[in-house]
Amino acid sequence: MDQNRLQTFNERINDLVDDAKEQPIRKKKEKVNLKPSIYSLEPHELKQWLEENGEKAFRAKQIYEWLYEKRVKTFEEMSNLSKALREKLTDAFALTTLSTIIKQQSQDGTIKFLFELQDGYAIETVLMRHEYGNSVCVTTQVGCRIGCTFCASTLGGLKRHLLAGEIVEQVVKVQQALDETNERVSHIVIMGIGEPFDNYDAMMSFLKVINHEQGLNIGARHITVSTSGIVPKIYKFADEQLQINFALSLHAPNQELRQKLMPIARAYKLEELMESIRYYTNKTGRRVSFEYGLFGGENDSVAHAEELAVLIKDIKCHVNLIPVNYVPERDYTRTPRNKIFDFEKTLKKHGINATIRREQGSDIDAACGQLRAKEREQETR
Ligand code: SF4
Repeated sequence: MDQNRLQTFNERINDLVDDAKEQPIRKKKEKVNLKPSIYSLEPHELKQWLEENGEKAFRAKQIYEWLYEKRVKTFEEMSNLSKALREKLTDAFALTTLSTIIKQQSQDGTIKFLFELQDGYAIETVLMRHEYGNSVCVTTQVGCRIGCTFCASTLGGLKRHLLAGEIVEQVVKVQQALDETNERVSHIVIMGIGEPFDNYDAMMSFLKVINHEQGLNIGARHITVSTSGIVPKIYKFADEQLQINFALSLHAPNQELRQKLMPIARAYKLEELMESIRYYTNKTGRRVSFEYGLFGGENDSVAHAEELAVLIKDIKCHVNLIPVNYVPERDYTRTPRNKIFDFEKTLKKHGINATIRREQGSDIDAACGQLRAKEREQETR
């Protein structure tokens, strides 16, 4: 990995600050003492903590069972631990860092959760039903500083990064809701609010905990991470050599248009981005998914599809075409159905594997960040 690329990351992201309408990172509630979440700890870290606190390391397995199999809501319920250990855990960690503010269920079974964090910020998590299982879309940041012009999540800028445990707990909370009907979370997509590669270390810890056999034991191939295109982190992620699915939000077939839709393209040019994608596919042997949102009259013509086909023709990939929901705060409209099919047909004609994403939760606030934006609106009234 080229160290220069890593070193320039913060500088280049900072250049985007104005465009992204970033606001300074601040806590909503002052003087809040954030307790570390117990869900942040991988088994070996929990063992280490136990030993440092005069306890036996084997207790880690018991605690993991309480957390991820029995999914208890208080340390008190961990009945095979001594009272002293339960008190130590209570003093050191938070077991609940999210409280449910809103739970909206769509007619198609999609459930959208709005959670409040310990410091009062609100985040979204979505459960989507598919034929192949139940997929949870997790959030990695409070807000986002990337500034994609079609995205409601970035309107208030970035407030703070989520801690690994706060990301894990989103999945635990959804699993607790599914426990009522004996269902299981089988898939994870890291595509909620925030840019996961801008909170890279927390994202990696999250992946390790949910993938661990004593944790939620969700297989790597059932997990997808998506980025807007932070090039140095794409190289870093490729070097991790994980079996996790990787998606890039591309949304445009050329530099000019991508830059218009996604200001991050000014920091990382399309050519440089595609080079990093080739590095990823060569290094891992895995294909990449290109996410392509169709915005009426912007990037959805047959000519755009032709240009896209040329751009990605030598890359092992799949294209997800996403008919974008109308976002009230933004000016984009939906692409008509016939044009969506024409776009798909054009890609297929060039031998590109493409599908149109099934729309879910359209009767609730399904577009990224809309529920949270609504809540913020209510807060400011
Ligand atoms: S689409 Fe993703 S990366 Fe872009 S502004 Fe929204 S949350 Fe951030």
